[in-house]
Amino acid sequence: MKKIVLTLLVLFVALVLVALGLGPAYLEKTMNSVSPHSPYSVSERAKTLHASLLIGDWHADSALWDRDLSKEYDYGHADIPRMQQGNMALQMFTTVTKSPAGQNYDSNKTSARDNITSLVVIQGWPIKTWNSLTERALFQAEKIHNLARRDGENFMVIQSQTDLAIFLERRALNPSLIGGLLGTEGSHALDGNVDNIQRLYDSGFRMMSLQHFFDNKLGGSLHGLSGLGLTEFGRQAVTQMLALDIMIDVSHSSESVVRDTLGLSDQPLLVSHTGFQGHCDSPRNISDLLMQKIAEQGGLIAVGFWDGAICDNTPKSVAAAINYGIQLVGADHVALGSDFDGSITPGFDTSELVAITHELLESGATESQIRQVMGGNMVLFLQNNLPKH
Ligand SMILES: [Zn+2]
Repeated sequence: MKKIVLTLLVLFVALVLVALGLGPAYLEKTMNSVSPHSPYSVSERAKTLHASLLIGDWHADSALWDRDLSKEYDYGHADIPRMQQGNMALQMFTTVTKSPAGQNYDSNKTSARDNITSLVVIQGWPIKTWNSLTERALFQAEKIHNLARRDGENFMVIQSQTDLAIFLERRALNPSLIGGLLGTEGSHALDGNVDNIQRLYDSGFRMMSLQHFFDNKLGGSLHGLSGLGLTEFGRQAVTQMLALDIMIDVSHSSESVVRDTLGLSDQPLLVSHTGFQGHCDSPRNISDLLMQKIAEQGGLIAVGFWDGAICDNTPKSVAAAINYGIQLVGADHVALGSDFDGSITPGFDTSELVAITHELLESGATESQIRQVMGGNMVLFLQNNLPKH
């Protein structure tokens, strides 16, 4: 009898270990897949131009998952080796802290069960992250800082204009160097406490988005129930963010929140991952009119690589969305915002970015427009909006 109990116990422990070992990888393989495709054909001209670009992307959720980003994987969308193959230079790493069960683009309850909690437990994150969204953001930031400590030859974290200048100098000598930045996806990551803005800033966060899929203490989500603008707490938080030179991202925010935030200051805003409603009439996208207002205030609109934002996921469709944006707001205000590793299914991973350059050239975009959209605009925005030191 004792032997049976012992065998069952050993079997149970083994099962738990297997679940913990394989679970996260299995989960990510289903969440962050790439549409099967044959290699994209790329012209010599596109290859040459692409190799000369400084490329930047405003949105990847890679820090949420259980991968060592210094290694190349055959699943997920982004890691350092694949970024190097794609000639990526600057990557904003956005930290996801809460995501409602049954997540959709139309309406999500703030009280819905949170999917990230089980992910955090399955991935074996420290217990303090289980019920604190701030701790979840800080833990993901720590992963990115660790990456820079372990793989300093290939990766550095950028927190200031000085860091950016050092990065650009180093990259001129070492084209495989990648600069990473930190951002939040939704300011529920503050755990409702405005003092946590400073805590996150101290850990390197330089971009904060206000909402994610549900209304939060700061205001309404584009996919929430209220449609409300900034709350008093939201105004307080935005004011504090701007005082610290934290860049504000209004992806996922209700149109009222976007308008209120535009009204609060003349600081330029980011839409870190989106499409254009006039190009893809998806509930994921805010109106073209509001996009124009964001651009008029010096903002940058970063085009995503998935169907929910651009109604398709091929390099050709990304180029079409970018061209629409150039027509609508001008090439100075369009950028890349992949949403890699954000539980989407793109038509390519970060190693295949040259396919976008190819399609942009094919579509008639000029080399100088391509240079701006692929990363030039991001460098300028960071030079103007990061804290000095
Ligand atoms: Zn998102």
